[in-house]
Formats: sequence, C-alpha cells, structure tokens
Amino acid sequence: MRYDVIVVGGGPAGATAARITAEKGLSVLLLEKFKFDREKACGGVVQGITLERFDLPKKVKETFERNAMGAFLCAPSGNYVKVLSEEPLGKFVWRSRFDKALVEWAHDKGAETRELTRVSDLIIKEGFVRGVVVKSKGKTEDLEAGVVIGADGFYSFVARRLGLLQTKLDRIAAQYSFHMAMPEREVNYHPLKRVASPR
Ligand SMILES: Cc1cc2nc3c(=O)[nH]c(=O)nc-3n(C[C@H](O)[C@H](O)[C@H](O)COP(=O)(O)OP(=O)(O)OC[C@H]3O[C@@H](n4cnc5c(N)ncnc54)[C@H](O)[C@@H]3O)c2cc1C
Repeated sequence: MRYDVIVVGGGPAGATAARITAEKGLSVLLLEKFKFDREKACGGVVQGITLERFDLPKKVKETFERNAMGAFLCAPSGNYVKVLSEEPLGKFVWRSRFDKALVEWAHDKGAETRELTRVSDLIIKEGFVRGVVVKSKGKTEDLEAGVVIGADGFYSFVARRLGLLQTKLDRIAAQYSFHMAMPEREVNYHPLKRVASPR
C-alpha cells in the first residue's frame, strides 16, 4: 500500500499534521503505537494562544473540562508562587480525550488512522525515506509513502533512526497524577494576584 503521507505518532502534532495534509486532498495514514485515548504525562493545560490560532471543532471543544485560572508553582524547598488570573488563561483537558478528539478530527477530514501499530523501522532507498515498517498484532508490514512525517514525540524513533536526535536520553523525570476533591470556588474563581510563600 502506498500513501502520499504517513504520519508517525498520534499526539497533537501528528493528528494536526494528518488533518492538514488530508484537508489538502492527500492520501494520509496516521500511525500510533499505543491506543489513541491513552493518558500522557501532562499538566493538561491548552493555552489561550492555541485556542486563538486553531479553529477547533465542537468535538474537540467538548473535551475541555474547565477553565485554567492560574498556576501553583512549588519548589522542593517548600517555597511556592501562585499566579492567579481573573480571566481564563486556557482550558484543562484530559489528554486521553483531547488527543483522541484531534485524531477523530483528522479522520473526519479523510486521514486513515491506525492505533496499536508501532513503526519499527524506516524504509530508506537511495538516501530518501520511502516508507515505514510497522508491527501490529504480531505482524510486520511495509508501507510506502511520498513523505513520512516524524511526529513521534520527545524520544522520536524517526529522528533517532535518521541520526537527527541531539537530546541526551540520560535523564529521567517522573510525574504523578491523582484525583482530589476541591471546593468549586477555589478551583474556578480567584482574584488577580500573585502570592509568594514566606522566605
Ligand atoms: C510532565 C509534563 C507536563 C506537561 N504539561 C503540559 C501542559 O500543561 N500543557 C501543554 O501544552 N503541554 C504540556 N506538556 C508538553 C506536551 O505534553 C507535549 O508538548 C506534547 O505532548 C507534544 O505533542 P506531540 O504530538 O509532539 O508528541 P506526543 O504527545 O508525545 O505524541 C507522540 C506520539 O507518538 C507515538 N509514538 C512514539 N513512537 C512511535 C512509534 N515508533 N510508532 C508509532 N507511534 C509512536 C507516541 O505513543 C505518542 O502518542 C507537558 C509535558 C510533560 C512531560
């Protein structure tokens, strides 16, 4: 099977690249190694500037959980700064719902989408990337394309395979997420102010 464009990675970048190329009338395949609706390490804030730049459809807007009214920055020392606003700074989303809605938007525009399909190699001929090798459900398949877009995130396999990844992968960060009940007023309303912890 040959496509005009194969996009590796079903995050916001990949889903958007797939949507835009599909809108141009190209045959597009979007590949994601996990499920499209998985959670990711993320604070979940979609900034106001993103909301202004992209004309998001109802399906994506329906994934907005609530307004983001500020941030609480806390150092390991226990010092903290609260930056709070009266106007919303953005929207909170669960990445599982938001990312999946972006993929569905690409699908609605004509992109073919496949999850649980890992790109395990690139097909390189005469110095050009001509496609990808994918593994899915124990099967290996060659897929050809005019263009391969590597939107496979920070640890990008595509970039590593091409020797383009400069980042040293020798550090690890961890994120812990948990659900907690908070008073509605505390979550949704704050007067404009900056509060720093006592030194
Ligand atoms: C702790 C933390 C908190 C953050 N908080 C925020 C925030 O509040 N707001 C904000 O805007 N940003 C935040 N970010 C940044 C944000 O998560 C990233 O900028 C965003 O996810 C990048 O999108 P992307 O589409 O480029 O990559 P990703 O979302 O990482 O998507 C890449 C996709 O490629 C897939 N993939 C990888 N390899 C392959 C392969 N070989 N074959 C097929 N698929 C593959 C992955 O499974 C993944 O789904 C945060 C990041 C971290 C780490």
